[in-house]
Amino acid sequence: MKYLFFFIGIAAATGQVKFEPEHTEVWEPKPTKITPGINTAPPSDAIVLFDGTDLSLWEGEDGTPASWTLNDDQSLTVKPKSGGIQTKAEFGSIQLHIEWKSPEIVKGEGQGRGNSGIFFQKAYEVQVLDSYESVTYSNGQASSVYKQHIPLVNATLPPGKWQTYDIVFNEPKYEADGKRIKKGTLTVFHNGVLVQNNVEIQGTSVYRGFPKLRDINLPKKLYLQDHGDRVSYRNIWLRKL
Ligand code: MG
Repeated sequence: MKYLFFFIGIAAATGQVKFEPEHTEVWEPKPTKITPGINTAPPSDAIVLFDGTDLSLWEGEDGTPASWTLNDDQSLTVKPKSGGIQTKAEFGSIQLHIEWKSPEIVKGEGQGRGNSGIFFQKAYEVQVLDSYESVTYSNGQASSVYKQHIPLVNATLPPGKWQTYDIVFNEPKYEADGKRIKKGTLTVFHNGVLVQNNVEIQGTSVYRGFPKLRDINLPKKLYLQDHGDRVSYRNIWLRKL
């Protein structure tokens, strides 16, 4: 794998390669599959972004009203092809709690099964995916920092079961001219299990090619992805750090 990246790096430097998505997929090693426990409940100092009642703190990715489906069980479901939703407010470094479930009726494979995602500052994705009994590239499975960091273990529960992410996001630091002086970091607990241990964010989450520096002029909104699958969310809160 090391040699493949070396080769691609050389080729990229000389402008001789056209990237395909497969060039940045890492399939081995596969994180060990484990059975997690469950926890929840917002602390008193949290900003509650979604408690099941309304989407008043959210908007569509183009700034129009958020149109995802509100359910009777106080959850929220992706409305496929409506686009992602994002917070109206912007956030720097945060602790985030969010619960999600992939559709009970399983369809699709790999990246096409229960795909959504949580994008910090609309740029850095912690993957949401049905990775219970579905194979994909390791750096793109549930709780990966998409195409940057493979989770330490696979703590995914079966489709249709509620799952938790507890995430610490430390934003990258920039100088006024846009030069990055410190990389951001992510720590992720999936269903209470540590799966990302203070990993460095290389740059924006990119499907094709390598991470890029985030445009510092773009708003720092928390963004949930519409990848065409009816993934549901509930109990979303954060604490500013
Ligand atoms: Mg995704």
